[in-house]
Amino acid sequence: MVDVAGGADYVHDDFDSSTAPVLFDNIRAAMPSVGYVYDPLYLEHGTSGHPEEPARLQSVMSHLKESGVLRELSQIRARDATPADLELVHSRELIARVRGTAGGGGGWLDPDTYVVSRSYEAAIRSAGGVLAATDAVLDGEIASAFCLVRPPGHHATPDRAMGFCLFNNVAIAAAHALERRGLERVAIVDFDVHHGNGTQDTFYAEPRVLYVSSHQYPFYPGTGHWRETGDGRGEGTIANLPLPFGCGREEYLHAYREVVAPLVRRFQPQFLFVSAGFDAHFADPLAQMRLDTRSYYEIASLIKSMADELCEGRIVYTLEGGYAHTALAWSVRACIDSLLGKELAEDPLGDGPGIAGPDIDALLAAVKRAQGLGS
Ligand SMILES: [Zn+2]
Repeated sequence: MVDVAGGADYVHDDFDSSTAPVLFDNIRAAMPSVGYVYDPLYLEHGTSGHPEEPARLQSVMSHLKESGVLRELSQIRARDATPADLELVHSRELIARVRGTAGGGGGWLDPDTYVVSRSYEAAIRSAGGVLAATDAVLDGEIASAFCLVRPPGHHATPDRAMGFCLFNNVAIAAAHALERRGLERVAIVDFDVHHGNGTQDTFYAEPRVLYVSSHQYPFYPGTGHWRETGDGRGEGTIANLPLPFGCGREEYLHAYREVVAPLVRRFQPQFLFVSAGFDAHFADPLAQMRLDTRSYYEIASLIKSMADELCEGRIVYTLEGGYAHTALAWSVRACIDSLLGKELAEDPLGDGPGIAGPDIDALLAAVKRAQGLGS
């Protein structure tokens, strides 16, 4: 009997539920597996003449829209990080200081780090965006995500905002994954050209977090020597690759294959976070490295292959630095293309300068010794 009025003519009493997985798989296959986080509130944190400006994110979003890449992604709605979320990493004093400075109309927390009246709201939604992406991946709604957030986070220590960063977005999300989602081991790979001192400080004695950073050294903020390897029960879970200026694609890929991949593999993380700064691009005005868009694509592909091998492809990228807008937009897109399993698109800036980079073999040998990796 067909109940036309009820519109239920597709329901059959003899429906065999064992065929349901086919339908389910079809639906899943049609869902974009890569998510992104973006919120217009992120543009309300800004002050004129500062390199960490809203236009950075606008250039990324424009490029993702114009290239059609955005249509291939699922948008994840950012939430606001609560005080309890922030306190997974930060002191109440720091939270009150950021909030109070914003509430008072703004000010400078250090010579680099500004707060305007909307900065607290932007910062909690930035941290909350990474939390939402982490939950979406852990809940199986998406396989991986790129969080297009600002203000950035990796310089923010538990009790200090610094280096353009108010709250440490990636550290808060990693702590959330451990404390509330039951994970036992997460890794954070940080390829921003600056050392993520805030992330390192947060997890320096934490055995459940592997933090691996490649950065220009010596350089801001001054930390990140290879001798810094963690403390107490966290000994051996901090790994720094302090690279000399002038490194390009060849040196970075060598370092990532020789040191980063073996360290991550040894740690066996259940989730991979990436602190993704793009200020090691040759066009970037703040640093002296020579990566190009292809370099980021290849590093991202290596990270993806590790995640596929170790943790069911679970990766959440969080935007950190990157101050040359065209380079930033194309490099973010290169990482997203790698998550989507697409080829690298040709970018207008092209390859980095074809100059021989510095010899980093002795440095990598020292890092391996400090980390107890066989040569
Ligand atoms: Zn940076």
